Amino acid sequence: MFESLRSISDHKILCDTDAIIVQERKLTLRLLVHLHEIERRKLYLIRGYGSMFVYCTTHLRLSASAASRRIRTARCLARFPELYAMLESGEVNLSTVSLVSKILNQKNHASVLGRISGKSQRDVAAIVAEYEPRAVLPADHVRTIVVAVPIKHTNEYNRSGGQESSTVEGSTPEEGRRAGDPEKSPAATASSSETMTLERHAVVKFTARELVMNKLEHARSIASHRLSPNASLEDVIEFLADYFTEREDPAKRHARREARKNNEKRERARTNTSTKVNEDAKRRIPVRVRDQVFVRDKGQCAYVSRDGKRCGSMHVLQIDHINPVARGGASSPDNLRLLCAYHNRLEAERLMGRSGRRLRSAQAARGTSDRGFEPRPARRRSPRRRGAPGEFAPSSAMPVQ
Ligand SMILES: [Zn+2]
Repeated sequence: MFESLRSISDHKILCDTDAIIVQERKLTLRLLVHLHEIERRKLYLIRGYGSMFVYCTTHLRLSASAASRRIRTARCLARFPELYAMLESGEVNLSTVSLVSKILNQKNHASVLGRISGKSQRDVAAIVAEYEPRAVLPADHVRTIVVAVPIKHTNEYNRSGGQESSTVEGSTPEEGRRAGDPEKSPAATASSSETMTLERHAVVKFTARELVMNKLEHARSIASHRLSPNASLEDVIEFLADYFTEREDPAKRHARREARKNNEKRERARTNTSTKVNEDAKRRIPVRVRDQVFVRDKGQCAYVSRDGKRCGSMHVLQIDHINPVARGGASSPDNLRLLCAYHNRLEAERLMGRSGRRLRSAQAARGTSDRGFEPRPARRRSPRRRGAPGEFAPSSAMPVQ
């Protein structure tokens, strides 16, 4: 093909090129008119494509940017027929028209089209910015790259719901390393002896309003205890996406519902067969309630002496049922208080006497205990193991750090 031009004169080459450009513009205009008619008749839908864009990129095999420019320009051409002559003469082109299409309306089209005639894309972007500053911001950009990562890293990544590692057609690890950030790339820090694998990553560029960045920063600070101190923006976005899908994904919601149903079934079965288990369940204090009691009592022992002295100890705090579970006391904040282990023991002894342990067991068995203070065997043993002989265990221990 190239050989056939070698013998042709310079003048003819230049003239032929001018003629080809004119033909190309005419062909482009024909294509635009056809595209508009396809869209008007919704032929892309009838042929099974979800949108004009999908039809153009899949069936016509246009690139994403070429398809977008042609679709926008075709729509513009239908609304403002004077563009036909401007496109035919080359005063405007697909890029400048698709840029200006974001701001063109029935009121401004005459003046705007007059201003962009013969202008470069950069000049047209400046004109568009006068009307709509956000219209000329760079479009979101996502590009797939391939990065070589150590096998170990890949497995961890996949376990946490990351992408599958694979190769990408037309990409090489070298391209990936060139395109990625070498300082952050695991490939850069991995020793050469480690087994490497190729993993798909995406370079994402988008313009975010300050408001959005502030929201992301706020989310990062709230989630700081669950993110590493030097969490990247990718970590924050992944965390937020996981957090949202965990709650909103219908499949996960369904699985939770099923698990709840099964738990309730099991709980009912336990209640029917064992009152002991039932009492343990009643004694269990939800974390939400524990937190509430801890905050209300300011993280200090709430024991108050007859003359009004509050202990206030912040060590070995335990949650105490004021009216014991065995006497129908609930695990609700108004029946709970924080006590240090010593005041917990004192309260029990005061109410039940020095021989409280034996007495209380007998009373509890008969259901007549004054206070029904019921140490659980496992917890009664634990203070002794820590070298505090005779220490009495609380009804419901909650070590607080
Ligand atoms: Zn105390």
